[in-house]
Amino acid sequence: MRTATFACDVLVAGGGVAALCAAISAREAGASVILAEKAPVEMRGGNTRHSRNFRVAHDEASHLSPGTYSADEYFVEIMQVAGEAGNEALAQTLAHESKTVVTWLAERDVVFENCERGRIPGSRKTVFVLGGGKAMVNALYAAAMRCGVTVLYDCGITAICEDGPAAMLRHGSHQTVAYKAMVVCTGGYQANPQWLESELGSEMADFVNRGTPFAEGELLQSLLNMGAKAVGVPGACHLVAVDARSPRHDGGIITRVKNIPLGMVVDCFGRRFHAEDAEEGPSRYSMWGNLIAKRPRQRATLILDEAARCRSGPSAFLPLRAENLAEMADLLRVEPGNLRKSVQEHGRLAGPPYWAIPLCPGITFTGRGVAVDPQARVVMNDDTPCDNLFAAGMIMAPNIITSDYLAGTAITIGAVFGRIAGQGATRHAIAQADADRR
Ligand SMILES: Cc1cc2nc3c(=O)[nH]c(=O)nc-3n(C[C@H](O)[C@H](O)[C@H](O)COP(=O)(O)OP(=O)(O)OC[C@H]3O[C@@H](n4cnc5c(N)ncnc54)[C@H](O)[C@@H]3O)c2cc1C
Repeated sequence: MRTATFACDVLVAGGGVAALCAAISAREAGASVILAEKAPVEMRGGNTRHSRNFRVAHDEASHLSPGTYSADEYFVEIMQVAGEAGNEALAQTLAHESKTVVTWLAERDVVFENCERGRIPGSRKTVFVLGGGKAMVNALYAAAMRCGVTVLYDCGITAICEDGPAAMLRHGSHQTVAYKAMVVCTGGYQANPQWLESELGSEMADFVNRGTPFAEGELLQSLLNMGAKAVGVPGACHLVAVDARSPRHDGGIITRVKNIPLGMVVDCFGRRFHAEDAEEGPSRYSMWGNLIAKRPRQRATLILDEAARCRSGPSAFLPLRAENLAEMADLLRVEPGNLRKSVQEHGRLAGPPYWAIPLCPGITFTGRGVAVDPQARVVMNDDTPCDNLFAAGMIMAPNIITSDYLAGTAITIGAVFGRIAGQGATRHAIAQADADRR
């Protein structure tokens, strides 16, 4: 029998929206809860810190979101985007349960943008968090601590023990935590270059990770090793075009390059490869991420004229300036003839000076996870759900988010299935405690 350093009814691994919703729900339902966050306190909150908007169904217009968006409409849109690979039962749960997400979070001090004040464009389908994901994470940690969740920072769960309801953790030293039920909310593996390289090849593994450096996927691996059923596609990632000078991790939303339709994009040889204004709306971000990922060296450059540079919004880095095309070709180390031909073909750049923004693909999240049932229980390879193991958030999102993505769905999955998992884990823990007493 293993000696545990920590013990609780419900162990929650992770520290983003899914983990926080799971931990608060479990504690409010009566369980003793430990939330183990691998990041130190100042970096707590995973990719959730970078997020801004939830896609939620609502039957009435409000100051948070104009018009209405029914759960049925949401469900149909998810399934259109997900195609045959999407799990219908989970998509139904997501669409219907999304209706209560905003009220639930607001009751725990998360504040949402009032779109009637005009700071953000009113959206019928999504609501924005005031202060962004970081403010939401701070509010939810405060709520978790108020209701009695024990939060351990700098505490990575390294493996789930196969010989009992316990997990190994590294909290200074290696220790063990005994639980009655566990909820795994550790996100994807976009910060693990070895894993990415094994699926994508060495060049692609060099992509920028837009989010937390703590998403290394050790618990996803542990679950798969234990026989959890895998979902999603190895190597699938949600990509967007980011400034190639971005930090390797955690650049967040400011490094995304939004002004591509204003200029001309060339590859590392100075050749155009796609119409810059072909796509409008949020899908253009992922389209450009994927296009650049397929170009040689996975690099491209956006070239702007002076007027386009002035119209561009704020950016993390200043564009590079060239006084003429020859100088620009020199700067980009491309054949001047190729660049001149691209400018002629594009035909919409006014004369010098020219400005350049280097582009590369940035990973928002990875597309491989574990199967769960509508109660968020982990499903094993023989299609049976595990009674005491639950998963929520990005680690199970590939059941619903498949080849394409609906903006705002990712954090809604975290909030919806985090709450369901926390409640289910508590039910199991209470039943287990009753059984132990008998
Ligand atoms: C720049 C950016 C912007 C985004 N904007 C939006 C948006 O506006 N709307 C939207 O819906 N989605 C958005 N997303 C996606 C969204 O942020 C994530 O899908 C969502 O936050 C995932 O929540 P999660 O709780 O599953 O994971 P995360 O928030 O990533 O949390 C994972 C947590 O697990 C911890 N962890 C990892 N391994 C371990 C371990 N072994 N033991 C213990 N803890 C561990 C990490 O430290 C982290 O705290 C964005 C993502 C990025 C990168």
